[in-house]
Amino acid sequence: MKILLMGPPGAGKGSQAEKIVNEYQLTNISTGEMFRESYNNQEPIGIEAMKFIEKGNLVSDEITNEVVRLRLLKKDAARCFLLDGYPRTVTQAVALDIMLNEMNSKLSAVINIVVDHEIILERMVGRRVCRSCGATYHVEFKPTQKKDVCDACGGTLYQRNDDKPESVKNRLNIYQNKTMPIIEYYRGRGILHEVNGMQTFNEVYKDIQNILGEPV
Ligand code: ADP
Ligand code: AMP
Repeated sequence: MKILLMGPPGAGKGSQAEKIVNEYQLTNISTGEMFRESYNNQEPIGIEAMKFIEKGNLVSDEITNEVVRLRLLKKDAARCFLLDGYPRTVTQAVALDIMLNEMNSKLSAVINIVVDHEIILERMVGRRVCRSCGATYHVEFKPTQKKDVCDACGGTLYQRNDDKPESVKNRLNIYQNKTMPIIEYYRGRGILHEVNGMQTFNEVYKDIQNILGEPV
């Protein structure tokens, strides 16, 4: 099973991915998470990527494609994976096709989580992330038991710089101009499924499960 999770920033991709990879035993490949982790470890790629991320811009196709190529070559990605946040441009989608082709592989399904503009803003501005384990919360929709403390690991929560209003606007523009065209790219191939992301976490998950079938 090789799945791609799409949708605007704040649609709930990461939240759903967390559950899907556990239930379906898939390797989670989130480019945003990889860049943040690389930055936290003060690696050159992470430091370079963060210059773009903070402003809400995309990291270059060249860097992103290479990061994904190396990740897909690892053993744990050979059979099953879930891609979250990649591809984000048509150039990346074409690069992914080439990479998978070279591996004699292809995507099983592309799931697009559809959410309206106003809801996205509310979700991004209220999102909080654990500095230690990366778990995602929301001040209103998924609050922690204790304010600003991660339920999973006790780490401290923070607000991503790119979730601040200045960056959010830019990210939504970029999504519309650069990422949305990919949806048509996959629709044309007949592997696109759309899910209403404006439901509860569990309802969205159930719809995704209906597409993927019960985990074996
Ligand atoms: P993405 O990975 O698509 O950027 P996230 O999964 O990080 O999105 O979700 C963005 C924010 O919205 C998070 O704070 C998350 O807790 C919240 N969220 C996600 N899905 C839902 C939902 N179905 N209902 C309410 N809040 C949600
Ligand atoms: P995300 O965690 O998916 O919201 O991604 C956070 C940020 O990382 C994005 O706003 C981009 O700056 C960068 N990023 C993540 N994935 C990609 C990608 N496929 N291409 C370019 N930049 C990306």
